[in-house]
Amino acid sequence: MKTRELLPPELQAGGITRRDFLKFCSVMAVGMGLPLGAGVKMAEAIANPRRPPVIWLSFQECTGCVESLLRSNHPTIEHLILDLISLDYSETLSAAAGHQAEAAKNKSITENRGKFILVVDGAIPTKDQGIYCKIAGKTALSILQETAPYAAAVVAMGSCASWGGVAAAGSNPTGAKGVPEILNKTKVVSIPGCPPNPYNLLSTLIYYITYNRLPELDEKGRPKFAYSRLIHENCERRPHFDAGRFATQFGDDMHRKGACLYKLGCKGPETYANCPSVLFGETGAGTWPVGIGHPCFGCTEKGVGFAEPLHQMANVKGLTPPVFFGEAFPNKPGISPGIKALAAGSAGMAIGVGGTAMLTGLKRKDDDKGDQDRNDGSKGV
Ligand code: SF4
Repeated sequence: MKTRELLPPELQAGGITRRDFLKFCSVMAVGMGLPLGAGVKMAEAIANPRRPPVIWLSFQECTGCVESLLRSNHPTIEHLILDLISLDYSETLSAAAGHQAEAAKNKSITENRGKFILVVDGAIPTKDQGIYCKIAGKTALSILQETAPYAAAVVAMGSCASWGGVAAAGSNPTGAKGVPEILNKTKVVSIPGCPPNPYNLLSTLIYYITYNRLPELDEKGRPKFAYSRLIHENCERRPHFDAGRFATQFGDDMHRKGACLYKLGCKGPETYANCPSVLFGETGAGTWPVGIGHPCFGCTEKGVGFAEPLHQMANVKGLTPPVFFGEAFPNKPGISPGIKALAAGSAGMAIGVGGTAMLTGLKRKDDDKGDQDRNDGSKGV
């Protein structure tokens, strides 16, 4: 395929240029630690009209996973996911309902046996034959067991689908389990988080569409490109941790100055995720829980999020050096893209720059001025 043909018509109709589309694919490839040239390969795969369909099942969940995907500031993420991956069935997003929606799902499964990607959000109750979550008269357990064998790949989206999450917390009254535990003979990609970052889903799907295989996973089934580093290594408050400057109460002087949140229960030192690099909501530097002054909850880590008390101090997993050394008290919150680029390059991990660039790499031109105004208005603590 010639590069000039690489812009899918759906994106063209949305006002996105070919240059921006190629730039987006390139930074997405860099963000996954792939070599130069992988971006063009990804663009070719996305532009191919025969993309695999996606069936999205929602079980014991709060809809936060889907909401985080839809509430991005720019049309980028939902546009890519909804238009480009061919979402054939989603209980939350389908215009159809009831028998009509079920018929659409069954038709897609029959027509695409062995070819579709199955995405699941929410836990699966197993107690009392799984009666605590039923859709169209069937338990979540039976729907998952009936559908998964026909899928080409299975993705567990969010902490509940990955290991039970909030539904399995405490006494776990419904016997909630994650997808990997139910489908114990199937390789499942887990993208935990509450909510998970939609870019990690998008990167996983695009990787699969491009290479026809799953990305490399860690021992918990999470893509290594997103979950191989502790939050503590990438955190902009890390200089304060190393210097022993801690907030001890919400709103105290050190908290307002942006000091480390370890003594407020931050689980960054025992939680693996790329939150500080990829951020949330596409509104610029600092838009992640620690960036706005709340300790990390550990939601991407089984046994930490929903398991350890929120304000209990974290178990520091070895004092790994930070990926970058930022200013101790910057005028503005967050770190500069330049430092992120350097950090990403020197560490051999391009997630920082890739993630940041992903947020700005593909958006409509008329959004740019609004961004500039918002960024100019943001003030450091
Ligand atoms: S303890 Fe939390 S706030 Fe402090 S540096 Fe580590 S991740 Fe950042």
